[in-house]
Parts: sequence; structure tokens; C-alpha cells
Amino acid sequence: MSSVHFHRLRVAEKTDETHDSCSVTFELAPRQREFFGYRPGQFLTVRIPDGDSSIARCYSLASSPHTGERLRIAVKRVDGGLGSNWICDHVRAGTEIDVLEPAGTFTPKSYGEDHLLFAGGSGITPIMSILRSLLAEGDGRAYLYYANRDEDSVIFKGELKDLQAEHPGRLVIHHVLESVQGLPTAASVQAYARGLTGLPVFICGPKPFMAVVRETLRELGFPREKVRVERFNSLGGNPFEAATPLPPESPEEDAAEVDVAIEGRQHKLAWPRDQRLLDLLVAHGLNAPSSCSEGVCASCECRVLEGEVRMVNNQVLEEEDLADGYVLACQALPITDHIRIEYS
Ligand SMILES: Cc1cc2nc3c(=O)[nH]c(=O)nc-3n(C[C@H](O)[C@H](O)[C@H](O)COP(=O)(O)OP(=O)(O)OC[C@H]3O[C@@H](n4cnc5c(N)ncnc54)[C@H](O)[C@@H]3O)c2cc1C
Repeated sequence: MSSVHFHRLRVAEKTDETHDSCSVTFELAPRQREFFGYRPGQFLTVRIPDGDSSIARCYSLASSPHTGERLRIAVKRVDGGLGSNWICDHVRAGTEIDVLEPAGTFTPKSYGEDHLLFAGGSGITPIMSILRSLLAEGDGRAYLYYANRDEDSVIFKGELKDLQAEHPGRLVIHHVLESVQGLPTAASVQAYARGLTGLPVFICGPKPFMAVVRETLRELGFPREKVRVERFNSLGGNPFEAATPLPPESPEEDAAEVDVAIEGRQHKLAWPRDQRLLDLLVAHGLNAPSSCSEGVCASCECRVLEGEVRMVNNQVLEEEDLADGYVLACQALPITDHIRIEYS
């Protein structure tokens, strides 16, 4: 059996970033969180429906693992492109998308020094993740050279301004707009990078952009091993063909733990999140009092001493009963992971 799993993630939000790009934020179910730890600059592989079949495309994470924000990718439309246009046209809040776990090596070794970053167009995506992480975790400067066609094409323009304001003096940005200065040239790269030789460098953007930047840095004497590049190619194969969905969670895995004192004895039980307390006790052969089982009579009343539960229906307990911790076992579902309950 394959050891590669894919995960079905729910889209929390989709935002148009520019006229031809969007960002997509994912929601993680509690169980998915352990699989989506990542390093800044890594990417997700996304399954894109294609008729009865599917293709796979990689999209870098623009979010930082160090700022508590949700996973976010940013996608720029490619003329005639299948994946990028499907995402920009069809994905909405609530859409479920299959993705592989984060991967990639375009990631800083440490946060404790200044960094030089080059982004062209959608190449800003992994650079943004790196940038946010450097600013959040380190105390050095980030020098960003950012090339775009025109002002309206600048992805994350507002967020970059906000970051500059939040970290005064630590984010130095040089915008290059083709509509104003023309295409990025060796001379412009040289003017920006001269004096920064030796810093770790991250470059992501269209092929010709990366070629000019790399060649210029080489001429300036930047050591090759400190210059990292990320190439935005489309995948030829489909890694989802060899992947399987994560096996469903067993009920025990998604259960709270409850200590119940009933008829003078203590019982420790796993309490599945979707099972009512009375049903749980009966299933374990315990003699729990009950009558209507509909939340209207209070025969099953018990008291929560520790933790929190919620009731699906309560037509009988008053505010002061609830304040004293009384609940109806026939309607109670667990909220916290550990709960202590007592029957009088
Ligand atoms: C590690 C990594 C990270 C990436 N991160 C990002 C990111 O953050 N943001 C982002 O926007 N992109 C990113 N990419 C690029 C992304 O994966 C896609 O390559 C990009 O979105 C284009 O895919 P597409 O399906 O839209 O276009 P494709 O369908 O791959 O088409 C690309 C171009 O080729 C042409 N084409 C397709 N098939 C043919 C054919 N048979 N003959 C002739 N021409 C053809 C299309 O018309 C189009 O112009 C990343 C790629 C990698 C590898």
C-alpha cells in the first residue's frame, strides 16, 4: 500500500489579489493539523479536476508557519493554463480540494541574518512566506527586489506596505515596474545587490528574470551555494495516482475522556464527540437514571464538576441550574477533552 496520503482541505476564503491572481486560504480540521506543519517557502501540491480525471499542480505557501495564520497559496492565471484558471474561476469558500502535504527545499537555513530576496510576478508567493518568517522570528533585514508588469499586477502590494510599517527599517523594498523602468536589467540588479554580497539569496520568478538575477549575482561574487532558486514549472506526472486518502479516524481517536461517579463507583470512559452521555453510559452497562430522553423531564440530570459539555436540547433546566453545572445526560455532548461528572 502507498505511504503517500492526500488530504481533503476545505477552503476558508478566496480573495482576488489582482485582476489576474487570487489567493486561497485553507481551513484545517483538528486531525489534519499534524500533517501540515511546514517551513517557509514550501509548497502544496493540489489536485485539479480535469474532466473525469485530474492533474496536479504545485502552489507555494504565502503564509508563514510562525505567525499563526492559516495556510494560504497565491495563484496567478497563466494564459490557457488548466490549473491556475480552474483555481481562480471555480474555487470558493467551502470548496474541498485534495492536497499533498507541504514539500520543498526553498527555505532559509536560519533567521538570524539579513537576507536578499528577488521576486518576479507570482514568484512573490514563497518569498512572502520567507519574508514574513524572517520578520517574525529573526531580527535582521530583508532586502526585496520585486519586479512586475505594472502597478496593478503587484501581488500583496498592501500587505508588503503593512509589513514595512510593522517592522520599521527591517524590510527594504525596491519595486521595478516594466511599465515604468522597463524589464529588470543587470544594471538595476547590480545597483540593488552591490554591497550585499555574501547574504543568503532567494530568487523566484519567470525564467528570464531569474537568469538575469543569477548571472548578475555571479558577476558580483555572490557564492553559488548561498543563492537558492525556485522554478515554477507545471508537473508532468500526477502524484495523486500513487496517493491514498488518509484512513478515517476511529471513533476512539476523536473522543473526549470522561470520569463519571455513579452509584458510588468511578468509571473512566472514552466519550465519542457525537454520542450523548446517556447513550454512552447505557452502552457501557451503567445504570444511569433516565426517562424522556428528549431533554424535557430532567430525570437524567447530573453535574459537571470539571470540563465543559453542551446540550442539544434543554427545556427544563433553569439558568441557575446551569450555573451550578447541572446538565441533562440524554442531551449532553462533550466540548473539552477531559470532563468529570457526578450523579447525586
Ligand atoms: C514548486 C512550485 C511552486 C509553484 N508555486 C506557484 C505559485 O505560488 N503561484 C503560481 O501561480 N504558480 C506556482 N507554480 C506554477 C504552477 O504549478 C503551474 O505551473 C502554473 O499555475 C501553470 O499551470 P496551469 O495548469 O495553469 O498551466 P498549464 O496547463 O501547465 O499550461 C502552461 C502553459 O502551457 C501551455 N500549454 C499547455 N499544454 C500545452 C500543449 N499541449 N501544447 C502547447 N502548449 C501547452 C498553456 O497554454 C499555458 O500557456 C509553482 C510551481 C512549482 C513547481
